Amino acid sequence: MKHIVIIGNGIAGVTAARHIRKLSDHRITIISGETDYFFSRTALMYVYMGHMKFKHTQPYENWFWKKNRLELVKAWVKRVNVDQKEVLLEQGQTISYDQLVLATGSIPNKFGWPGEDLDGVQGLVSKMDLELLEKNAPDNSTCKRAVIIGGGLIGVELAEMLLTRKIPVTFLIREKYFWDGVLPAPDAQLISQHIKLHHVDLRHEEELDEILDNGSGRVHAITTKKGERIDCDFVGLCAGVRPQINFLKDSGIETNRGILVDRFLQTNVPDVYAIGDCAEQREPVGERKAVEAVWYTGRMMGETLAQNLCGNPTAWNPGHWFNSAKFMDIEYQTYGWVWNKPKEGNAHYHWKEKDSNRAITIEYHLATRKFVGINTFMIRLQHKQFDQWLSNGATVDEVIRNLDLAGFDPEFYKKPFEAIKKDFINQSQDSVLSH
Ligand SMILES: Cc1cc2nc3c(=O)[nH]c(=O)nc-3n(C[C@H](O)[C@H](O)[C@H](O)COP(=O)(O)OP(=O)(O)OC[C@H]3O[C@@H](n4cnc5c(N)ncnc54)[C@H](O)[C@@H]3O)c2cc1C
Repeated sequence: MKHIVIIGNGIAGVTAARHIRKLSDHRITIISGETDYFFSRTALMYVYMGHMKFKHTQPYENWFWKKNRLELVKAWVKRVNVDQKEVLLEQGQTISYDQLVLATGSIPNKFGWPGEDLDGVQGLVSKMDLELLEKNAPDNSTCKRAVIIGGGLIGVELAEMLLTRKIPVTFLIREKYFWDGVLPAPDAQLISQHIKLHHVDLRHEEELDEILDNGSGRVHAITTKKGERIDCDFVGLCAGVRPQINFLKDSGIETNRGILVDRFLQTNVPDVYAIGDCAEQREPVGERKAVEAVWYTGRMMGETLAQNLCGNPTAWNPGHWFNSAKFMDIEYQTYGWVWNKPKEGNAHYHWKEKDSNRAITIEYHLATRKFVGINTFMIRLQHKQFDQWLSNGATVDEVIRNLDLAGFDPEFYKKPFEAIKKDFINQSQDSVLSH
């Protein structure tokens, strides 16, 4: 019986294991140093905020693993020996494999800032980070002010988390507006405004210079590149994440930012594969990034790899880009591509409801009017419908005319679609809608 060993019990590794089990009788072992059981990393924030207990973030009951013959090993892998086809655990034990899946996720970025290893300075990625956060920032008497570095999705989540414990937050971001390297200017401005409305001391175009030691190895202030000093008891490092691959040094498995894989998710070493946050595509598909640290990508890679390991060679084909997130109270969805500035030959159409945070931005091709992508704030739209429009090459006019087909906000919710249509007709005189 073939033995498949998976390092990492996150969404990528566990999806691969579940699907391999559905398709085969192979022996499957999942190794992870973080937790005994798979949990939803995206729900970590709700544990700190008191909305759920940690055990509620585990999608499967504890009996699920044994019943499905998925052997779990809680340990850190120290090294992979590809010649002997075995992994060495930190405790000294070795486990042999016929095929190895690397699904080791991400760790927070650090850029060599002075003081980045002081007590009270941390990222937010793992369960250990969550436990550390409970110690570092339990309440506003222990933590009188927190400073968050880096304007990404985890940074805004951490700000929201700290606010629920009434801890004042200063948030330093390099950009002119929040996430404006990704979001078009009106969207980025809306989110910046919203973060400020939550009483976060959001500083645009500001960077960390140094984290200062209180003399006992703990943070007590930071200084910014502009020379300001901000007293604080906690620093959240949220300037992105990078693949967790240190243990592969000298293994012979080729890495760059992540573990390099081909379209079949195979590394340069036979029988060794990589999926999820830690994988880097040698040739990214279309406009997709080489490393995509998002939940859905991990899940889809797990499904694809299971096919490959069970005799159905399947190339990685992630389909149309989509994602969702939350910026404090603002729900965000995106389908297709909306660039921060329209790509050459494209245009943006932006609509925002007066006195609310409901908004959309659509990117489309000017000459052909082909729909390229949409961002929505506080308007829930269906993935299936957008997948169809993107596959069929729908025009922006067709999409806007039929937006209500994609809507799935609750029945009595006031729908914005008629207002969007009217506004679009007013703005684009040559739209077919106006004929
Ligand atoms: C706070 C937060 C919020 C997020 N929110 C969103 C969101 O809203 N939407 C979205 O799409 N994505 C979100 N993400 C990203 C998403 O959670 C990740 O892309 C996804 O969980 C990655 O899954 P994975 O299986 O690749 O890796 P992981 O879930 O990181 O799992 C890898 C596992 O491998 C273990 N491991 C690593 N090295 C070793 C080793 N040497 N030995 C043993 N075990 C090892 C790790 O400890 C970990 O348990 C968020 C991430 C964070 C941290």
